[in-house]
Amino acid sequence: MKNVYLTGAGPGDVELLTLKAHRVICEADVIIYDRLANPEILEMSKDGCEFIYVGKEDGRHSVPQDEINNIIYQNSLKHNIVVRLKGGDPFVFGRGGEEALYLYSKGVEFEVIPGITSAISAPAYAGIPVTHRGIAVSFRVVTGHESPNKKESQISWDNFKTDDTIVFLMGLHNLSKISSKLIEIGKSKDYPVAVISRGTTKKQQVVVGTLENIVDKSKGIPTPALIVVGQVVSLREQLEWFRG
Ligand code: SAH
Repeated sequence: MKNVYLTGAGPGDVELLTLKAHRVICEADVIIYDRLANPEILEMSKDGCEFIYVGKEDGRHSVPQDEINNIIYQNSLKHNIVVRLKGGDPFVFGRGGEEALYLYSKGVEFEVIPGITSAISAPAYAGIPVTHRGIAVSFRVVTGHESPNKKESQISWDNFKTDDTIVFLMGLHNLSKISSKLIEIGKSKDYPVAVISRGTTKKQQVVVGTLENIVDKSKGIPTPALIVVGQVVSLREQLEWFRG
């Protein structure tokens, strides 16, 4: 059997790995991985498994996507079982789709193994349900990487006027712009926000605040971190359960 597996590593807690991801990690000839919330996962591999790191080192640029695509492709020619391991879910802001398209263009067989995304699991470990009857009937997962000041934003900020939950990934450095933008579209200054850092791991930190004070309150919090905006954040007072 020869295959490339675009595999979700889950958000950090190693027990949130799926059984299927666990199986292919144990069988892999090579694992091509990014900075993972939990590097313990790599220890599950068999003797002789090769590891190729393609993530971002602090202060350095990440490997360009074209190069990553090529690394996956070249390894698919050399090995039977290639695992491309990504934090959370490979198709939630993971560029897994781009890698799959590249493999398709080269005629390489691949499978996608979904993972538990940080977008729902970090809030869950913080005691914040992303939907809740009577409070939020939907949730959106939005890139926080795009600055709200950008002239041609692809984000429809006007959609955020409701009380539905918004989870921003990759948004910590834009938190101040995101908060101001949400106030600008009409949310109150005391609207609930949480920042969750290193969610589901022993190092999880949660800061709860409002659109007005969250920037100050979360200063210096380490990445990876995500932002949850919504009335559901208030449920944490009663639902906080994770002790790390
Ligand atoms: N595919 C991933 C997301 C990749 S984008 C997934 O499904 O989870 C990377 C962003 O995910 C980070 O900037 C951060 O916002 C978020 N993230 C990933 N792991 C996280 C964690 N353990 N705790 C909090 N946020 C996390």
